[in-house]
Amino acid sequence: MASSSFFRRLWGRWSWTNGPWTNGTSEDVDPQELNELDQYVWQAAWLNDSTRRLMIRWSKDFISSKHWEGCNGFRITPEVKKTVALNASLLILAYPTWIFPSTRTILIYPRPYKARSRGGDLHHGLGGEFYRSGETHARGPVTLNWYDIQRALYRDNDGDHLVLHEFSHQLDMIDDPHADGLPPLPKGIDADRWKSEFQHEFLSARDAIARGEELVINDYGLTHPSEFFAVASECYFQMPWDLREYQPEVYTLLREFYITDLAQAMDTP
Ligand SMILES: [Zn+2]
Repeated sequence: MASSSFFRRLWGRWSWTNGPWTNGTSEDVDPQELNELDQYVWQAAWLNDSTRRLMIRWSKDFISSKHWEGCNGFRITPEVKKTVALNASLLILAYPTWIFPSTRTILIYPRPYKARSRGGDLHHGLGGEFYRSGETHARGPVTLNWYDIQRALYRDNDGDHLVLHEFSHQLDMIDDPHADGLPPLPKGIDADRWKSEFQHEFLSARDAIARGEELVINDYGLTHPSEFFAVASECYFQMPWDLREYQPEVYTLLREFYITDLAQAMDTP
């Protein structure tokens, strides 16, 4: 877990006024890498050229700074690393100096895996063995499975995106190991207001479900504010039009943080 002061140092190195995607040169990215980006991240087709190149450069730093380990016989290949890294880069488009330093190890299973819970947590109250798609800890590894990672490589898959889910938890825990749905916010955002609006949207969504309404954000996102942030982040990038159409306040709130407005980009053919 990175301390607040560490994060502030990181933050200080990034200039808000520069905005995202203004650095880099065209020579440091191979055309083949741009093809791979489109293959692994469908959203990239709607991002501008400098953004796409920054994603590739960032993914290389991310890949080289992590320890990768396959579980239950799963073999980590360059394709696996690029798929995870390039998709995770969607979350940091506005914060390219942020490389998830507290994530040292990435474990990948071939498919959802059985794990024992001691119980007492939000989802496994009685304890026991449960199938999991992935998990993340403030100081521990990020665990994923290849089957679910691949399900997110296509549009309109129902909004699930395992990589974005687990790494948005990492964003959430940058300044506080207890995930609460509140990532560190840049100076341009009033943290008290953002937190208040976020809490309002979380509770409103719960009320709507209780009234029998359907939401873009699925039920799992209503179990805890941290899950609301993670699932909303999945929807923000995986079903941007739907989230903007049906839960516009949530979309607007996340746009303040993520900056990249994929729904707007996709409005233009
Ligand atoms: Zn979660």
